[in-house]
Amino acid sequence: MPAILDVRNLNTTFSTPEGTVRAVNDVSFAIEPGETLGIVGESGSGKSQIFMSVMGLLAKNGRAEGSVRFKGKEILNLPVEELNTIRGVKMSMIFQDPMTSLNPYLTVRRQMTEVLEVHRGMSEQVALKTAIDLLDIVQIPEAKRRVHMYPHEFSGGMRQRVMIAMALLCEPELLIADEPTTALDVTVQAQILDLLGKLKRETGMAIALITHDLGVIARLADRVMVMYAGEIMERADVRPLFKSPQHPYTQGLLRSMPRLDEHRINRLQTIGGQPPNLQHLPEGCRFRDRCPYAFDRCAIEKPLLRQVADGRVKTCHLESL
Ligand code: SF4
Repeated sequence: MPAILDVRNLNTTFSTPEGTVRAVNDVSFAIEPGETLGIVGESGSGKSQIFMSVMGLLAKNGRAEGSVRFKGKEILNLPVEELNTIRGVKMSMIFQDPMTSLNPYLTVRRQMTEVLEVHRGMSEQVALKTAIDLLDIVQIPEAKRRVHMYPHEFSGGMRQRVMIAMALLCEPELLIADEPTTALDVTVQAQILDLLGKLKRETGMAIALITHDLGVIARLADRVMVMYAGEIMERADVRPLFKSPQHPYTQGLLRSMPRLDEHRINRLQTIGGQPPNLQHLPEGCRFRDRCPYAFDRCAIEKPLLRQVADGRVKTCHLESL
């Protein structure tokens, strides 16, 4: 079966008065049907810009090059009309702030039924029933009544559920979730992650889960891609990555994450320093100024992404940690 999403050699740049910002550098990966790929990294690591490139949502000064195939069809830089037959239909995106996807001036009913009528050819009556069913699926209590409400009448967690329901209207095969729980308190966060897991099991859709939070990844992802300064540092199945990270940056991220499964309380460690300026990237390894293992070669030779054991890939000169 072909991958749902196959990204090859993606480079995303932004032109600014100060020069070119290299946000995504030669990134390649695939997402299989039904799989959840977690994409983790600090802000500015390029993780969101990969998917803004995929969705054709880059800012005006942005430019994406390379190849993005959705179910075998090249979609990078497609004309908007053609792209609109895929995005929001077979491939949906949800964001940290639901108000970026919801229109504050229209009731939830109007926003949901319009999409169903236009894209799935439903009558108004069938569209309304489908909208209510979807609000039920995302566990909005009293969906029949609430479908007539405006977005601002919902709490933050409920609005996030409405946005997920909106993203599911056309039964997408790929859901791109960009920090979907960051603005929520931990209880609601857990509920939304459980909901995404349930939807994934029941519908078989693939999920690209973008987050800075490894706890979110641990809860939902099958595989993890760790991004730093626009490059993939490591990619592996979730369990082996958590058990034995093979890149110094992944190791640093894991050490900075609170763990509930450890009997003694270890002091959390931070990764010192700052990511490099994406307009003036250093020679050699991009992580070297912050890497505790850095050695001479790291300053002069750029490590290339390479295969290591168990289908794992990493961008580091060291054989193992
Ligand atoms: Fe650290 Fe060198 Fe590996 Fe970069 S290549 S992560 S600096 S050891």
